Amino acid sequence: MSETFDVAVIGAGPGGYVAAIRCAQLGLNTVCIDEWKNPKGKASLGGTCLNVGCIPSKALLESSENYFQIKHKVSVHGIATENVSVDVPVMIVRKDKIVTTFTAGITSLFKKNKVKSIHGRGTLLQREPSANAWQIKVDDNGNTEIIQAKHVIVATGSVPRSLPFTPIDNDLVLDNAGALALTEVPKRLGVIGAGVIGLEMGSVWRRLGAEVTILEAMPGFLMAADEQIAKEAKSIFAKEPGLQINTGINIKSIKVSNSDVVVNYSDSNNQEQVLEVDKLIVAIGRIPNTMGLGVSENGLSLDERGFIVVDQYCRTNLTNVYAVGDVVRGPMLAHKASEEGVVVAEMIAHSEKGQASENEAVDFNTIPWVIYTAPEIAWVGKNEQELRAAGIAYKVGQFPFIANGRARAMGETSGFVKILADEKTDRVLGVHMIGPHVSELISEAVMAMKFSASSQDIACIVHAHPSLSEVFHEAALGVDKRALHI
Ligand SMILES: Cc1cc2nc3c(=O)[nH]c(=O)nc-3n(C[C@H](O)[C@H](O)[C@H](O)COP(=O)(O)OP(=O)(O)OC[C@H]3O[C@@H](n4cnc5c(N)ncnc54)[C@H](O)[C@@H]3O)c2cc1C
Repeated sequence: MSETFDVAVIGAGPGGYVAAIRCAQLGLNTVCIDEWKNPKGKASLGGTCLNVGCIPSKALLESSENYFQIKHKVSVHGIATENVSVDVPVMIVRKDKIVTTFTAGITSLFKKNKVKSIHGRGTLLQREPSANAWQIKVDDNGNTEIIQAKHVIVATGSVPRSLPFTPIDNDLVLDNAGALALTEVPKRLGVIGAGVIGLEMGSVWRRLGAEVTILEAMPGFLMAADEQIAKEAKSIFAKEPGLQINTGINIKSIKVSNSDVVVNYSDSNNQEQVLEVDKLIVAIGRIPNTMGLGVSENGLSLDERGFIVVDQYCRTNLTNVYAVGDVVRGPMLAHKASEEGVVVAEMIAHSEKGQASENEAVDFNTIPWVIYTAPEIAWVGKNEQELRAAGIAYKVGQFPFIANGRARAMGETSGFVKILADEKTDRVLGVHMIGPHVSELISEAVMAMKFSASSQDIACIVHAHPSLSEVFHEAALGVDKRALHI
């Protein structure tokens, strides 16, 4: 039996590695166990986010947007371009380099903070009450070791949901990992699922020239977003050449041959349809990953959808076992996972010092959501349909990017910013954006909501001119019907 750690973190995605670093910063003797291997068979820290999620998708979105801009949009600036072409393998190598830099960066951060990193699958064995510690088996391809830790943070993340009748082969039928590794542009690309991942993956390959058809089972488009934003997004995307989004569909069968995939489905009018594509991306959501963790052996409570049940401080039903990130309820977002990791680390550090925790639970109402399409979509807080359903009276301030000088100069004038504020108190209840760089602009809205700002608090802040942030300012002025430039 090896040494007893204060904390063992299982999983080194943004939930786990951040939790491990924060534990170590707080003086806790910490080990992080992770089983991820990259395509070369090497251990690679960072989980889904760094390896096959947030980072590689944004690298390809950036490359494909640059290509699209140069090929289709820069001529209005008087810039002539001829014979613009794309070398997809080079693009993929660039993406892979970014991934390797960041995953290696986690290894360095672990070294710097003295987090012990062990490669392999971690399984909770049992808690030894006499030692006040959990025993965890770590299995790396049959080489096993048992470690002990007083506290365990489970951060095992999520895996793609697959269609029951069509296995992912990452040749013709792709999950997110396959969609990020294509080495040529498919002529015809099908995407099942118009959620964040489906839209982002579809965007990458459409910008590079694929004819993309997205099939979505839900009757509406982007139903998690504010309905006005979703409507605006749908009408903008409908004008994009090479992109078709069909909602309210029902998949009947998928036939995979040697060279293509045929999807039979009924459309929203119950008409039988056939879609023939060269590649099919399945992006129908993700499921919590508790495989091999020792859930049933230890009586770890899961909910009916397989998420580990936790309270608002991420405590599970097992003594000194916490769970954070995609494997528990709440938005499946990297920054939510990391924030939960920090809260748990600080709670453990306090308990080790015999102090009560001073940390607040993570407030999902101030977690920003971003979809990196063009234009981008971002929001925080409540949307109009939620406020209506809750019977909360609210005021609306809205301002379009087309009336903003910076957006005009950039040639990116689609979309708007909308602020929803409480009718009586003026406190900001939600902010919804569609437009250029709203992934960056949303942070100001998050800060406003975190500090319980009113729309008038935002209205009295001077924003630089000309900048996109003026659209947020004007929307705040608009709540009081005093927007200046419209
Ligand atoms: C294509 C795509 C794009 C995305 N883009 C964004 C984005 O732009 N912004 C955003 O916020 N989110 C994005 N996400 C979601 C984001 O990646 C996840 O929310 C985030 O990675 C969750 O972090 P986590 O730490 O909970 O789990 P994960 O990142 O999934 O990490 C879990 C880790 O635990 C390991 N593990 C699992 N079980 C064990 C075990 N028993 N023993 C040892 N190790 C184990 C796994 O191998 C993995 O390394 C995206 C996801 C995808 C797929």
